[in-house]
Amino acid sequence: MIIDAQKISWVRSDHMVLKNVDWQVRTGEHWSLVGLNGSGKTTLLKMINGYIWPTSGKLTVLNRPFGTCDLRELRKKIGWVSSALSEKIRPGERPEAIVLSGKFASIGLYEQTSPGEREKAHALLTKLGCGSFENRPFGLLSQGEKQRVLIARALMADPKLLILDEPCNGLDLFAREQMLSIIAKMANSSETPSIIFVTHHVEELLPCFEHTLLLKAGTVFKSGTTGEVMTPEIMTAFYDHQVSVQRRGGRLSVALNEDAMMESKF
Ligand code: ADP
Repeated sequence: MIIDAQKISWVRSDHMVLKNVDWQVRTGEHWSLVGLNGSGKTTLLKMINGYIWPTSGKLTVLNRPFGTCDLRELRKKIGWVSSALSEKIRPGERPEAIVLSGKFASIGLYEQTSPGEREKAHALLTKLGCGSFENRPFGLLSQGEKQRVLIARALMADPKLLILDEPCNGLDLFAREQMLSIIAKMANSSETPSIIFVTHHVEELLPCFEHTLLLKAGTVFKSGTTGEVMTPEIMTAFYDHQVSVQRRGGRLSVALNEDAMMESKF
């Protein structure tokens, strides 16, 4: 079992940020985690990575119950790729060195690497479509290129779980589609660990992510197979607005209907 969350809650300043969240992710499963801004996605991810602890409930990650495991060891087995990580990297750092540092789960540590590890870093960069800018300083890369380097870095440590935290944020249409196509290829590969793909855009959901968790105001609004969860009825209740759901080439598109649009005009 990758994640076993049983009725976990997190309370801060009289505010229940997460309420009785149940979530089971099994080995090999790929999940989309969808929630609007402020729904508790980051809080849940922080908890999975051991940065905060549940106020109540029981959480086991990679078969290690919280309170009994070495958090540094646990984090080495989880590749959490987020824009916050991108901000920690020095602009002059080169992609190859960044990817090599993934082995140590610490940015800036890469001196003691073997030729085999350098070969692996190079292969990952090529796989992620970063071959043409392998030696360009990080600060000169586009947002999409940075994200791809960071995914390669996370894979360098052979994680058991890869968390892609809003990987398409700030990307233009082309870069977004390129990123989604890379994620789809990873999800379809037998070498890839379980992936959690976090987004607040339903349009980004990929058919190869067979499970979806909808988080709303800190609670699990719906969880199950993507087909069960992404229905017009559930989406209408999730957004509190009448929406239509369409499928194009296996991808979903959700649109507010005109009455809902009129209501929100000023
Ligand atoms: P998301 O990632 O889905 O946008 P977050 O997990 O960042 O949501 O936040 C969920 C809610 O919890 C927000 O209302 C946020 O203001 C609140 N929150 C997050 N961290 C704290 C904290 N340390 N203390 C109090 N409230 C918090």
